[in-house]
Amino acid sequence: MNLTQLPDNPYLLLTPGPLSTSKGVKAAMLRDWCTWDNEYNDLVQVIRRKLVGLAGANHDDYTTVLMQGSGSFSVEAVVGSVVPTDGKLIVLTNGAYGNRLAQMAQVLKIDTQVLDFGEVSPAEASKLQEILENDPQISHVAVVHCETTTGMLNPIDEVAKVAKEAGKVLIVDAMSSFGGISIDVAGLGIDFLISSANKCIQGVPGFGFILAKTEELKKCKGQARSLSLDLYDQWETMEKHNGKWRYTSPTHVVRAFYQALVELEEEGGVEKRHVRYRENQRTLVEGMERLGFSTLLTKEWQSPIITSFYFPESPAFTFAAFYERLKKEGFVIYPGKISVADTFRIGNIGEVYPHDMKRLVQAVEQNIFW
Ligand SMILES: *Cc1c(COP(=O)(O)O)cnc(C)c1O
Repeated sequence: MNLTQLPDNPYLLLTPGPLSTSKGVKAAMLRDWCTWDNEYNDLVQVIRRKLVGLAGANHDDYTTVLMQGSGSFSVEAVVGSVVPTDGKLIVLTNGAYGNRLAQMAQVLKIDTQVLDFGEVSPAEASKLQEILENDPQISHVAVVHCETTTGMLNPIDEVAKVAKEAGKVLIVDAMSSFGGISIDVAGLGIDFLISSANKCIQGVPGFGFILAKTEELKKCKGQARSLSLDLYDQWETMEKHNGKWRYTSPTHVVRAFYQALVELEEEGGVEKRHVRYRENQRTLVEGMERLGFSTLLTKEWQSPIITSFYFPESPAFTFAAFYERLKKEGFVIYPGKISVADTFRIGNIGEVYPHDMKRLVQAVEQNIFW
């Protein structure tokens, strides 16, 4: 396959999930696979091993489960499978994804406490500690690593320390950070970490994955509140039948994901990708600040994944017009998602480089119509 023959995308996706993918990743989808063929299942097994490797985790202690659907389906599979009927979950939240996780637990009638830090403050481990000391019923703690709603990077190391010292099972939604920020999964003692194909690994949407401490996962047998989203069952099938999925798997997406993992290795791994994302973010913010924009978050809590900017103060500014103009220039951005301020968001991840951020800033400068 000659990659230069593939048409260019009409715009760069600066929307972290789905995001811009390489031509290699897109080209990998141009053939069909049989879901029960060994060649395909071997590929799934390689992917599962590579994911455990990316987490820096010991292969003996950790395992991977792949799950059909968007990232939320994997979050729901974890929430619905790991908390036993007599368990209680506390969810630390400061945005839409933390709230969604809590909502899932509530829909599943799991005893749930929500610890809300508002939209622009990081999760505080000391608050969690206080609650855990006073409520021995709590068995599970859930936290979002990068809250994509704002770009906030929550201090999961501090949260993990408190949760693990108290002997709780720890669930981390690292959907938008895994693969773009190093996470010492084993060192932090994370029991279940969730991410998906179409974020920092730079694949296309279609499935999520869960890194799980094998010993904790084994306790979930027969516990799921859903058949399709039974984490233990899905894992058991993959283990016993050499990478076989229960039900139809997104074969093209899986093949593209394998290519994305190879390209991550070629780039130099998670550390190198992190450097590129940080450089993207720095180039973007410096350029936008020069044009008079300011960021919602202080640098201390800002992730290299996505950046929220305040609307400019002119009444002539509308997000819709801004969006359309930038789209014509070849860039698609995100609306804001919080209630305390009018913001828009620009993703820094995907097949996107600092020179793209420079081009974007130029496009913004040329389209200041307010
Ligand atoms: C993208 C994302 C999800 C999953 O969202 P989907 O739309 O279901 O893919 C969950 N949590 C976080 C933090 C995310 O960024």
